[in-house]
Amino acid sequence: AGDFDAHAYRADFPVLGETMHGKPLVFLDTAASAQKPQAVIDAVNGAYGSGYANIHRGIYKLSQDATDAYEAARDAVRELLNAAEREEIVFVRGATEGINLVAQSWGRTFLAPGDQIVLTEIEHHSNIVPWQLLRDQIGVEIKVAPVDDSGQVDLDAFTALLGPKTKLVAMPHVSNSIGTVLPVETMIALAHDAGAKVLIDGCQAVPHQPVDVRALDADFYVFSAHKLYGPTGIGALYAKRALLEAMPPYHGGGDMIATVTFEKTTWNDLPYKFEAGTPHIAGGIGFKAAIDYVQAIGLDRIEAHVDALRRYGEQRLAGINSIRQIGTAEARAGILSFVMEGTHPHDVGTILDRAGVAVRCGHHCAQPTMDRFGVPGTVRASFGLYNTEQDVDALVDGLAKVAEIFG
Ligand code: PMP
Repeated sequence: AGDFDAHAYRADFPVLGETMHGKPLVFLDTAASAQKPQAVIDAVNGAYGSGYANIHRGIYKLSQDATDAYEAARDAVRELLNAAEREEIVFVRGATEGINLVAQSWGRTFLAPGDQIVLTEIEHHSNIVPWQLLRDQIGVEIKVAPVDDSGQVDLDAFTALLGPKTKLVAMPHVSNSIGTVLPVETMIALAHDAGAKVLIDGCQAVPHQPVDVRALDADFYVFSAHKLYGPTGIGALYAKRALLEAMPPYHGGGDMIATVTFEKTTWNDLPYKFEAGTPHIAGGIGFKAAIDYVQAIGLDRIEAHVDALRRYGEQRLAGINSIRQIGTAEARAGILSFVMEGTHPHDVGTILDRAGVAVRCGHHCAQPTMDRFGVPGTVRASFGLYNTEQDVDALVDGLAKVAEIFG
């Protein structure tokens, strides 16, 4: 699209030069986890190779430098999300831990039996199960906002679920299984009108578009670094300061304390109150490198490029009779989810793999979404900043082969 030179960016990603079964790798599984640019690999290597020491309590320069590098990642996340303060950024292992943290700390403290949590029909399991655990612990109720046949949330039905008992709405910004971009700004305003807090699962949105938690007025926002071209094992929870201050710690251990005696412990300041134990130091440093990398390209440009690819892919898939696309909402990210008549998604994935094309097949950790559309799973092709129209063409060629085999 336009001046976006995906071919040039590809050179930053060493893995894209690999072959699979003797064919050039066509990587179409970025929604599961993005590939890593050399800058991130170098940052992680450097964190272990020349700058490594435990952080936060070191009196010596090596430790202080590592601390500075790690804490610079917090500033980078703050800026990425346009949060007001660095204290509002809590490092977690990933989105999953961020959601569990909110459920166990905020949920167990501030929710009571009979209170309601509203989810949507297109959640990732990680935004369902933590709330079910909480339900079984304290007796909250879970309500589910339905989506229409395009995979978009039905706003009337959503609004009808909101009431005085609604204490939390937790929803994806972008669906990982079918790509719907939810009208989160509107939904947050509706939830706030009902007096509820809102948690946004931003895993698929942060790599896809600029996100501004203050403009959205999100109360909680979570995402994982590995989907943003960064390392696994680290992610961020954003929460408004007043919420974090009122919430008790989630894990206990070193670093999260101010004072400890056997009788009583007092908590460290934000955000360290929520960061027990030695953190993923190299991961944080790689996280910052990933943020710097995408910021230098521009998330708005990445969004435009990926949208153009998705539209191109959508058109090309529409030319194959046996394909049914799942999730056709107008607002969609770089995800194509589909089934092929007479085939199982895993057969399609296996044949594509032989052609070097890596896609994900199955329920994508979103079984209720699959149930909604009456399919056991889908084939999902998802795009990152390094994908090109040639990748889409390779996918379509592979699918033509599948159609031939399954006739
Ligand atoms: N939510 C969404 C929308 C996701 O795409 C994912 C990752 N597939 C998760 C949550 C969970 O993220 P993680 O496994 O990195 O914690």
